[in-house]
Amino acid sequence: MTVATPAATKLTNYINGQWAESRAADWQDVVNPATGEVLARVPLADGAEVGRAIEAAAAAYPDWRRTPPEDRIQPLFKLKQLLEEHVDELGRIITQENGKTFVEGKAELRRAIENVEVACGMPMMMQGYNLEDVARGIDETMIRQPLGVVAAITPFNFPGMIPFWFLPYAIACGNTFILKPSERVPLTMRRAFELLEQCGLPKGVVNLVNGGKAAVDALLDHPKVRAISFVGSTPVAKYVYARAGANGKRAQCQGGAKNHVIILPDADMQMATQIISDSAFGCAGQRCLAVSVAVTVGAAQKTFRDSITDAAAKLPVGNGLDEGVQMGPVITPQSKSRIESLIGVGEKQGAKVLLDGRGARISRHEAGNFVKPTVLDGVSAASELADTEIFGPVLSLVHASDMDEAMAFLERSAYGNQASLFTSSGSAARRFRYEAPAGNIGINIGVAAPMAYFPFSGWKDSFFGIMHGQGRDAVEFYTEKKVVIERWAKEHSRKF
Ligand code: NAD
Repeated sequence: MTVATPAATKLTNYINGQWAESRAADWQDVVNPATGEVLARVPLADGAEVGRAIEAAAAAYPDWRRTPPEDRIQPLFKLKQLLEEHVDELGRIITQENGKTFVEGKAELRRAIENVEVACGMPMMMQGYNLEDVARGIDETMIRQPLGVVAAITPFNFPGMIPFWFLPYAIACGNTFILKPSERVPLTMRRAFELLEQCGLPKGVVNLVNGGKAAVDALLDHPKVRAISFVGSTPVAKYVYARAGANGKRAQCQGGAKNHVIILPDADMQMATQIISDSAFGCAGQRCLAVSVAVTVGAAQKTFRDSITDAAAKLPVGNGLDEGVQMGPVITPQSKSRIESLIGVGEKQGAKVLLDGRGARISRHEAGNFVKPTVLDGVSAASELADTEIFGPVLSLVHASDMDEAMAFLERSAYGNQASLFTSSGSAARRFRYEAPAGNIGINIGVAAPMAYFPFSGWKDSFFGIMHGQGRDAVEFYTEKKVVIERWAKEHSRKF
């Protein structure tokens, strides 16, 4: 199976309802991480090009804002139908540009579709509230109104899902929208926008601009952009949050992660092994909710160490489009060498490499960026590895004598995207839910990804902002509250 795009196809932007050739001076190859094949060339838009998209979105806003919410959601029903019909096609594109397996690509699209479905409830979700007689004869009402032009900047690891954490809610609330997807994986959204084009949205309501830092800066600095949604690494999230704030924009910025799981001796070890293996090595460990550190407590140490190493060693690694493959490559050769050198750092700082995924060679895919599942034992709290986001298929094992000691590992992490516990004890689960310092909590769950009607709730250095993506938070983020206080003369029976 090959992607429909012939090699070196020059990608275009979608501005004001039209595919527009880019005048960018800088271009970048889009490369299949499993094969090294160049799939396309992506433009890195400059400020002027981004400015055209912003002006198109600004021009579309007054009429879109006046379009009744009931009418605004009709294109989203169409979009849901088209996404359902094209799941296989989009799933293949995700695998080809990102490297995850076809099954994983289709799974992320399900999450995308769920967000479209939830946003279809906007006529209910966007309602305000009111109270009569706040004083005699005076009524007070809270109305939600859209902001105007809003933009989202998204990462490489979920090319099909993450843009849909934002787009459906933004436009259903009455905003007009600009997406700047990751320049490493622009093909999925190119196809998704071809589908959006068939949904009957007025021109300028959704726009797609390809680019990198210059495009992001242009969105952050333009006075007509009212809100920024960002997902990516923590240093860039902090930068985007600060610059958006300095320019008076609201921002929600999701950053990196270092997720811990605690395994108590009373856990169902077979279930824990299977679920944690999927969390640590699924999507080649390039999930912001991937378990990265497993803290075993007491007698769980030996059983889990042996079973997870065994499970990891058996994972079939290869091209995600090949039957039976359960783990694909990492995104770039640079990523592969960064991950391999971090494994070396862990080893030098005292960890024992129980399973070594460095130097992986996959036959017929010699140009692919493969790192096989890796398990490190005895990573000390002082090791650089304990704090660094690896973003690859590497699981560090840490041992604690009791739950207090295990919780201390979580407390000291700079990140707070997800924390999980495996146990059969209700009281341990309650304590964990109550005390764990992370926004997404899993109890016997390996990837605690909130459904579309709950906020994707990172904490600490994993999130900068107040309102998260998805669900009710998305409505709060994409609307401004207006409060109206009214008094009318008492002329009930006036004749006109
Ligand atoms: P990244 O930070 O390199 O890039 C994210 C986006 O920012 C891209 O669109 C990119 O073009 C842009 N960008 C990159 N450098 C920039 C700069 N200097 N100035 C302005 N814009 C810049 O992230 P990535 O490598 O694409 O994605 C992986 C990271 O995203 C990981 O750290 C992962 O944990 C994180 N992530 C977090 C979540 C979450 O929900 N918290 C979800 C997915 C991914």
